Amino acid sequence: MHGSPVPSQSRDWIDVTNPATGETLTRVPCTTEPELQRAVEAAKTAFHSWRETPVPTRARLMLRYQELLKQHQEELAEILCEENGKTFEDAKGDIWRGIEVVEQAANIAALMMGETVENVAAAIDCYSYTQPLGVCAGITPFNFPAMIPLWMFPMAIACGNTFVLKPSEQDPVTAYKLAELFTEAGAPKGLLQVVHGGGQQVDFLLKHPDIKAVSFVGSVPVGQHIYRTATDHLKRVQSFAGAKNHMVIMPDANKQIVINNLIGASAGAAGQRCMAISVAVLVGEAQQWITEIRDAMAKAKPGHWKDPNADFGPLISSAARKRVLDYIAKGKAEGARCLLDGSDVKVDGYPGGNWVGPTLFADVTPEMSIYTDEIFGPVLCLVNADSLDDAIRLVNDCPYGNGTAIFTASGAAARKYQHEILVGQVGINVPIPVPLPFFSFTGWRASFYGDQHAYGKQAVRFYTETKTVTARWFDSDIEQAEHPNMTIQ
Ligand code: NAD
Repeated sequence: MHGSPVPSQSRDWIDVTNPATGETLTRVPCTTEPELQRAVEAAKTAFHSWRETPVPTRARLMLRYQELLKQHQEELAEILCEENGKTFEDAKGDIWRGIEVVEQAANIAALMMGETVENVAAAIDCYSYTQPLGVCAGITPFNFPAMIPLWMFPMAIACGNTFVLKPSEQDPVTAYKLAELFTEAGAPKGLLQVVHGGGQQVDFLLKHPDIKAVSFVGSVPVGQHIYRTATDHLKRVQSFAGAKNHMVIMPDANKQIVINNLIGASAGAAGQRCMAISVAVLVGEAQQWITEIRDAMAKAKPGHWKDPNADFGPLISSAARKRVLDYIAKGKAEGARCLLDGSDVKVDGYPGGNWVGPTLFADVTPEMSIYTDEIFGPVLCLVNADSLDDAIRLVNDCPYGNGTAIFTASGAAARKYQHEILVGQVGINVPIPVPLPFFSFTGWRASFYGDQHAYGKQAVRFYTETKTVTARWFDSDIEQAEHPNMTIQ
């Protein structure tokens, strides 16, 4: 707070554990109400001078910040791995995707430009420009502890706002380090406030009259709660929620490329990505590839982040592991064919880790809970479809719309898929089509509540208000301007 950490008076503390070992790394306070109030007030005070700070100065802060993040990328990745468990390469990717947003935020002057039309009526000009909103808040999930906070506060602050961030209580140390580096980059006091805790702390922010906009990323039930509560309190909201992403596999696709991409996209990061592929739709002859998919998936190995041979890490908590194991049991009970069961996997030297091995179900149907629910583990469901039309119908009937992919050699099939599919991010022979920051992250339907999405031009629209000016000056005043001391009768 105020650019340096403030000890909390809270009596409520949450353990942050290493998911690969089960050991407690640190504890994080549930920020008390008076502390939350002071954080919002400090951000509000900082806003008065920050909104007057010239745009190039704001951009230069982002330039220094992206440089510092690059210098500290490895150190940040180690912190991230310890508390989140993902592999070192994955952690560096998590940070890198965030750095790319900061690079984009350094381009803020061009992004904030308004519009002008001369002579909208005789001698009347009309022009618009964008102004910041005030204090904005961000609530982030555990699975991208660097990237997702960096989706939010750099763009909001570059636009001239100040920001209160509530990171996931499961891996909050990465966000703490991000804030420390932001201060080191020269961020004025109060610009970025980091508070901690869970639902109670979030609800305080959602209802606070001085918070003008809320950015959320997390699960569907919480995303709906955030959207409802914050809009009820008349705030602008963008709420990114859960997913069930399908990869449609056409029989004309290159089998080996499909299999390589599918395994990484489903088991990578232990399936804990909002863009992970959790359903593969095998069209026609592609249904013959099941054995090869199983054999390839069986080779994906969980392990500790320091093990260079590990393909993915543990689940974030023992509760998350239990939830995934329950789904594996349900899948079997519901009649899906379990070709690979990772329930009992062990990782040598790490008996306390939340491990689940790669798990594969075939003959999955749309009524089964392993199909309808987001499992968020390394569990892949195979569904059969007779034709591309059947596959499109299946994907469009699923309520989520975050990401999808089609693998095919046919431009016509790809074109039909991209046009007809009701999903906001489509990959054509690309398994996880996360847009780069000059575009926006455009989830649809149950995966997103709001209208303006994260980063890119849409983030600038989200974090600013447009002011439109209609101006008229009178010719008769020109004479007065030329001769200001002359008295006009
Ligand atoms: P989560 O919803 O449990 O938590 C997200 C945030 O909300 C955390 O900061 C948490 O403290 C807070 N929170 C939890 N319960 C709350 C409550 N009752 N009221 C108010 N706030 C509350 O999500 P998670 O488990 O941390 O993250 C995984 C989920 O995030 C998955 O569903 C995944 O698909 C989703 N996700 C979506 C995207 C996207 O862009 N669509 C990106 C990443 C993750």
